[in-house]
Amino acid sequence: MTRKPNQLYSKLPLLVACLCVLLLGLFICATVYHVRFSCLLIVALAICVGVLLFVRVRLVRRQAELVLEKQDYSEKINLLEAEMIRERRSIDAFREKIFNYLNLKNVIEKLSLSLTVSDTSQVLSSEVGRLFDDSYSTVILYLFHAKTGELGLSASQKGQTPANIKDKKGDAFDQWVIKTMQPLLIEDTRTDFRFDVDKIFTETSRPVRSVISVPLVIHNKTLGLLRVDSPREKNFKTEDLQILMTLGGLGAVALENAQLYERIQDLAIHDGLTGLYLRRHLLERMSQEISRDLRGKQELSFLMIDLDHFKKYNDRFGHMAGDIVLKTVSAVLSYFFNEAGNLVCRYGGEEFAVLLPDCPKEKAMDLAEKIRKKIEHQEIILRRERTSITVSIGVATFPHDARIREELIHKADEALYKAKEKGRNRVWRAGK
Ligand code: GH3
Ligand code: MG
Ligand code: MG
Repeated sequence: MTRKPNQLYSKLPLLVACLCVLLLGLFICATVYHVRFSCLLIVALAICVGVLLFVRVRLVRRQAELVLEKQDYSEKINLLEAEMIRERRSIDAFREKIFNYLNLKNVIEKLSLSLTVSDTSQVLSSEVGRLFDDSYSTVILYLFHAKTGELGLSASQKGQTPANIKDKKGDAFDQWVIKTMQPLLIEDTRTDFRFDVDKIFTETSRPVRSVISVPLVIHNKTLGLLRVDSPREKNFKTEDLQILMTLGGLGAVALENAQLYERIQDLAIHDGLTGLYLRRHLLERMSQEISRDLRGKQELSFLMIDLDHFKKYNDRFGHMAGDIVLKTVSAVLSYFFNEAGNLVCRYGGEEFAVLLPDCPKEKAMDLAEKIRKKIEHQEIILRRERTSITVSIGVATFPHDARIREELIHKADEALYKAKEKGRNRVWRAGK
């Protein structure tokens, strides 16, 4: 064990005193008994005092040096501690960045796997819900409807489950975001001067005290908005709004892709002129329905409809007018057969087909006769002239007339041919 120098120093006077007392004793003894020896002792004493004084001076100097060294070290420790705090902070920030990047990577992967608008909306709202998971916050995604152009609720999330949002078209906060195309951060709805809360919230409204919301904008086009709100005030910080803006940007790209995908899907199965399904889609649906009806022992009827003497309309009024006739007949067919499960398709040229699942032959004949009359009485104005058109219809039913898809189409086609042969503007059943 080493002793500290100042401890040594504090004991030094005692040591010197003891030495002096010892030497004095020796000196007195020597003076009394031996004079020469006493002279030697005086010299020795003087040397000792000199040595002790020298040691003392050295010790005092060393002590001053040690105090300085100590100050130096404590300064260095302070600097190192400050450096460590800075390093720790930057490591924490770096860790948070990695965490955010991993989260974003995860969101991007999930968004890129969802093809439809509804899937993309679900993924976006649930991922935002996961990131803001404090079991109080509600995530809401509003999108503009492709056809009506109205803002509507697309997806919502509270914690891990979809939330039940009554406000399907958005409130004043959402209108503000859409109008200004700016992100919105409200720390406390009760004190925010921009909004009149009494007008926004009724007694039945969800309690909303803080809001962050961003518009979903791509190529200067607003697709909708993404919002997170909470019943607690000051629940969101600027950093939360920044994260939501990043997610909103990713979401807007994914949603636009999904809209494009749906449009292409739509074009692939719908006829550009009439908007009816194309033959390919009809064939797919027919196969599904036939295998379903085989199991369920239900009847499935199929109508082939052909416009009578359509070529004459084209020749007389022109091709454009012919298109108007096709569109009018399509609209009448769609309206008439607008029931769940039914499928109306443009089979080709001026031929249409209707698939009626779970429909016995007599009912199909009755429906065919009704639609024939409806089309006959439908007024079509071509070049300011009131005209009308008639159709011939062939009806075949599964499983009475056919047991496979191709045979069912063939039987309906045969029946249509018969209807034409018998004078047109009539319904003919297969096997008659
Ligand atoms: P039928 O009573 O025997 O069915 O006589 P039709 O004149 O209706 O039949 P035809 O097969 O002789 O002529 C069909 C016509 O339909 C010929 C074609 O120019 C016309 N057509 C096919 N597709 C279109 C289209 O998209 N637009 C227009 N305007 N005409 C079309
Ligand atoms: Mg025809
Ligand atoms: Mg034809």
